[in-house]
Amino acid sequence: MALTERTLLGPGPSNPYPEATAGLSAPLLGHLDPEFIGLLERTCDRLRAVWGTANPLTLPLSGTGSIGMEAAFANTVRRGDVAVIAVNGLFGARMCEVAARYGAEVVRVDHAWGEPVDVERVLAAHPAPAIVAAVHAETSTGVRSDIAALGAALRERSPEALLLADCVTSLGGTEIALDAWGVDIAYSGTQKCLGVAPGLAPFSFSERAWQRRVTAPPIWYLDLGLLGAYVRGGPGGRTYHHTAPVAMIASLDAALERIAEEGVDAVAERHRAAGRRLQEGLVEMGLELFAAEGHRLPQLTTVRVPGDVDSAKVREQLLTEYGIEIGAGAGEYASSVWRIGLMGHNARMDRAELVLGALRRVLR
Ligand code: PLP
Repeated sequence: MALTERTLLGPGPSNPYPEATAGLSAPLLGHLDPEFIGLLERTCDRLRAVWGTANPLTLPLSGTGSIGMEAAFANTVRRGDVAVIAVNGLFGARMCEVAARYGAEVVRVDHAWGEPVDVERVLAAHPAPAIVAAVHAETSTGVRSDIAALGAALRERSPEALLLADCVTSLGGTEIALDAWGVDIAYSGTQKCLGVAPGLAPFSFSERAWQRRVTAPPIWYLDLGLLGAYVRGGPGGRTYHHTAPVAMIASLDAALERIAEEGVDAVAERHRAAGRRLQEGLVEMGLELFAAEGHRLPQLTTVRVPGDVDSAKVREQLLTEYGIEIGAGAGEYASSVWRIGLMGHNARMDRAELVLGALRRVLR
């Protein structure tokens, strides 16, 4: 069955970079082939560049963004450890659920949806947490939180705590500096600003986190000790753990090369310019943006659905008449907010104008 080509302007997946699509059709190699190992090492180097880290344990995990979340908690939480988790949307809430399943005593710090994480409230929640976690770019609300500020304050107040950041919607679209910010554990997903199909979860783990890791986590597949022996090698050389998704890694490598050629800062600026144009255009149409001003993500815009408009019908019309996918709101905002993504290959003026023009016509 031939599938229809769409312009994917929802919360992800987004249309991949052409280079990433071409990368999928590169010759398939074995996961222990020296040529593939060279490609994997280059991919990990390129990931370090976009993360802003020197962490040796930086790798693409097999699975979507949620597998990164799972690996983060599985390898760090011991039963009864206190995990302070900032919740300002759906994905902060998911972290609470995942952390609890690995035995964490979760201290949940709720914020109004649409607002950024409040550093003072998070740090006041517990005097000696083992882990503090927050979402950098909350895809459910379109809000960016200040992970640099959280890291700086955490180092002063609770220097022992590990800092975990969800960067699923920020990596490849927003400047990130894991080492400068003091982030110990971070994960992302390929299908958003990195401009690759869904299927990999870039992951980075600091030396500090490595020293304190759980040595035999309850999930074998995500045991970073075993994965590290494949990705980094070890006394016994590189050993098989699971079959690496070689085609997806080649695709990610191609997208990272594309990003490096444009320049990480230039790519972030392209996201900012496109997002700014979209947000200005929506306001010019008389629509109201949802996320708090000053904290809006350029790559994921949330906008309130006018009271007299059927949200689902508009999305359906955009899809069937214009081939454009935008997202519904998340949680209680499912029918009162739209989410419009301009990520990776789609972070462009022409895509901003395209969705503005189509929305203008549908709402007329
Ligand atoms: N965290 C954030 C901020 C996300 O936006 C998403 C997905 O949209 C996830 C985690 C989970 O990623 P996935 O759906 O790829 O498993």
